[in-house]
Amino acid sequence: MSYLRPNIAVMAGYVPGFQPPDAESWIKLNTNENPYPPSPQVIRAIREATGESLRKYPDAVSRAGREAAAELYGYPADWLIMANGSDELLNNLIRACAGEGEEIAYLQPSYSYYATLAEVQGARVKTFPLTESGEIRDFPARYTGRLFFLTNPNAPFGLRWGVERVAELADRCAGLLVVDEAYADFAEGNCLELVRQKPNVVVTRTLSKSYSLAGMRLGLAIARPEVVAALDKIRDHYNLDRLAQAALTAALVDQDYFRDCVARICATRDWLSNALRKLGYQVIPSSANYLFVSPPDRDGKRVYDALYARKILVRYFSDPVLAHGLRISIGTSEEMEQTLAALEEIG
Ligand SMILES: *Cc1c(COP(=O)(O)O)cnc(C)c1O
Repeated sequence: MSYLRPNIAVMAGYVPGFQPPDAESWIKLNTNENPYPPSPQVIRAIREATGESLRKYPDAVSRAGREAAAELYGYPADWLIMANGSDELLNNLIRACAGEGEEIAYLQPSYSYYATLAEVQGARVKTFPLTESGEIRDFPARYTGRLFFLTNPNAPFGLRWGVERVAELADRCAGLLVVDEAYADFAEGNCLELVRQKPNVVVTRTLSKSYSLAGMRLGLAIARPEVVAALDKIRDHYNLDRLAQAALTAALVDQDYFRDCVARICATRDWLSNALRKLGYQVIPSSANYLFVSPPDRDGKRVYDALYARKILVRYFSDPVLAHGLRISIGTSEEMEQTLAALEEIG
């Protein structure tokens, strides 16, 4: 296909987590979705936005959402940008910073979509190995690539680095340090303050996990106004439709509902961690809404298959550094009790 750029012609493309067609008959713990519904205020806001006004374009700058986020995170509105999922921001950050043949980096393992985005752009990739105790191997005194993605808390382990450690990494980066905080709402702290302190730090967030809105595609970034202005030039000018904007603002405003949901998930996570350790599993301490766990025989595939046969869907990675374990998203406490009972039976 000579019409295509060679990198696009040869690339494999990203494979999203499996969504079973008969979703209702599964306990679905494979893509870190929130087991609780979105806030009733969000449903109401979407209903109100569904009507005659859909014939008109949405607000191009998602002003209401930016203002709600500015209030929530304590940054001026021009330090914030709203996106059609945080994936859109990860994509546009690469496009903004790394030309063809230029280098970006991330940890191995971490979110595998960074690789696909770099491949599409034609950027080169460098990876630094991450150990299960949170040690980053071979990170140079000065990293001169255009951009470094740090997933914090990390995926799939759920480990979290404190602000001091991330600040030190920022000082060692010549390019942007993008702290992908997709799971920060489930952690004890975050790196928001670094955006003010370090000129090269950008923080990205998503409403997919902690706000139960994976189906709406909503994300945001906090960055210096000059970075926000650059991202504003690159994005689709109407990147958030009217329903998404209504949902975004309502979700960020209803903090009581949000806090209650997050607290329940964290309590369930801590309960499951203890229960699995008692079963002889190795459990990496998690600051996210999932656990990376290894059965006593360190055969992740065996346990994945046995859970699958019981219609419990978790995430198994065939990558040799991950094949000894499984990533289990935290569901409701009932779902976790059923999963634990299945794991006891499987042995
Ligand atoms: C889920 C996830 C995202 C994507 O978030 P969306 O807003 O749904 O696009 C980004 N980064 C990491 C690490 C994630 O796990």
